Amino acid sequence: MNRIYVDIDTQIDFLDRQIGALFVPNADKLVPNLQKLVQKAVADSNSTLFIGSLDSHTFACGEFVENGGPFPRHCVSGTIGQLKLPELMPDRALVLPNCGGFEPYEQLYEVVAGDAQLFLFEKNMFSIFENERAEELVNFWTEHVLKTRPSDVEVIIFGVATEFCVRAAAVEFRERGYRVRVVRDAIAGVTVEGEAAAFQEFWDKGIDTVWTAEVVGEAKVPA
Ligand SMILES: [Zn+2]
Repeated sequence: MNRIYVDIDTQIDFLDRQIGALFVPNADKLVPNLQKLVQKAVADSNSTLFIGSLDSHTFACGEFVENGGPFPRHCVSGTIGQLKLPELMPDRALVLPNCGGFEPYEQLYEVVAGDAQLFLFEKNMFSIFENERAEELVNFWTEHVLKTRPSDVEVIIFGVATEFCVRAAAVEFRERGYRVRVVRDAIAGVTVEGEAAAFQEFWDKGIDTVWTAEVVGEAKVPA
């Protein structure tokens, strides 16, 4: 089965209990599993696509409380909190700013032909697909590299937060026809209710869950 690994917002502001501006409850406990998944995705990166999102805002973002939004200020571009957790950063990651699609189209070939282990898409909203380059790279990978259909590609999603950006990625990959599997012990939600609603939606939309051990090929599956 062809795979695309998707790492959602594993950034200091969400994962660091001490200095994270919008720490997701228990998200720091995910780090060992996240490390295993990143190592697996990097190890597979010659034959699979490994992408991720980085929440990236200006201080004027409408998501923030001081601007009338629901969240405290977080992931402001250029701050420590916006950085991906260092232990979850491969040697060779390519950060793709949220500034339009690949133009001309040959840029896509160049990007894929490079030796990046992870393509990180900056985004200002919940969905990774808000960055047009994510859509273009995913389509290119499926159609031109794998030469297959989305229904033949398994998308493995992990990160935070379950009911916001993980949900958006899962639902939107599903809407594009991919087989989607959310890694149950490598995601965390902001609230219990929000998490429960997200799982209900996953169930309703045919989005599967999977354990880290299954993804990385460890024999034992947690009970
Ligand atoms: Zn945000």
